[in-house]
Amino acid sequence: MKWNPLSYSRAFLGNDIGIDLGTANTLVYVRGKGVIINEPSVVAVNQKTGQVVAVGKEAKQMLGRTPGHIRAVRPLQGGVISDFEVTEEMLAYLIRKAEGSNKKLFGPRVVIGIPSNITNVESRAVRDAAQNAGAREVHIVEEPMAGAVGARLPVQEPIGTMVIDIGGGTTDIAVISLGGIVSSKMTTVAGDRFNNDIIQYVRSEFKTIIGEKTAEDAKIAVARLVPGDVPVEKTIRGRDIVSGLPREITLTDMHVREALTASLESLADAIKEVVEMTPPEILGDVMQRGVFLFGGGALFPGLPRTFERMLGVPVHVVQDPLTAVVRGAGMITENVPFYENILLSHADDISPSLT
Ligand code: ADP
Ligand code: MG
Repeated sequence: MKWNPLSYSRAFLGNDIGIDLGTANTLVYVRGKGVIINEPSVVAVNQKTGQVVAVGKEAKQMLGRTPGHIRAVRPLQGGVISDFEVTEEMLAYLIRKAEGSNKKLFGPRVVIGIPSNITNVESRAVRDAAQNAGAREVHIVEEPMAGAVGARLPVQEPIGTMVIDIGGGTTDIAVISLGGIVSSKMTTVAGDRFNNDIIQYVRSEFKTIIGEKTAEDAKIAVARLVPGDVPVEKTIRGRDIVSGLPREITLTDMHVREALTASLESLADAIKEVVEMTPPEILGDVMQRGVFLFGGGALFPGLPRTFERMLGVPVHVVQDPLTAVVRGAGMITENVPFYENILLSHADDISPSLT
């Protein structure tokens, strides 16, 4: 075989890595391997020593169950980075894990998807964190854009594309055309809010207190936004407000629909706001092509149809909606020059020390 300086140098270069730094779940895609990490965005920290004791699944199990000095945190919960150091630790952990034993002389090229409302200070912090973790090249992209790329929507064309990413902490609504975001809105009405709606509902209707995990399990098990022929139900356990004793109740899909009504309406209002901000030509494309949904919320049975009714446009769920963002980040690593215009530039970052 002829000596090829390109493939030769490739042997020293780390892998290309795409990361979806979600509010609920963090995913990592490695070129040639696919999605190799899919873990909750949770970090457990020992407050006495400041050390990170667990990341991901292991840390999530500690949520609500930690002894006094260990704190399990979701550093991106509301779509803002609440704790830079913890986020940095999480990124370092992910990059190390993605590299595995295959560490090269020069670190990986990393494309990181971050929530769209993130500030310049925060995007700078993410960039620095990845660099500190050994990346040789770091690119930052907003998650709705990355998801649209992952769903193979025509983001670079002069065609309006509307995407809605319903995650855990935030929902991102964006209209994209010619590689840019034309109009957008971020709201905290998303999966966590739905869980909280169920907690509040059970509290007021059944005088029972349930935990977040119970609420989320119930949401995923019994949620049907469009009623079916037979009701779906699930027995859940909580604590009776009055007696303080454990109690079992049966939650049905009807209860969940009632609990979520206000949140779904407010989500539809947010979408309408974005529609109102969108120039008419682009809006014409959206009306014709419909809206594309991804993120965990897209898996909510009946949600696409509910939105279709509320908005009067076709609503499509993209293939594999939980991995659209990370797959998009991975696709960007493979052709950075082509996607240069959709990335957040260094110039947009502000050093934390300057603020
Ligand atoms: P993020 O991008 O913010 O990390 P994800 O896109 O991973 O969030 O979505 C996580 C959210 O999706 C959680 O709130 C979870 O409860 C919700 N979710 C996952 N599967 C389903 C389902 N089948 N039905 C309803 N909600 C779901
Ligand atoms: Mg997401």
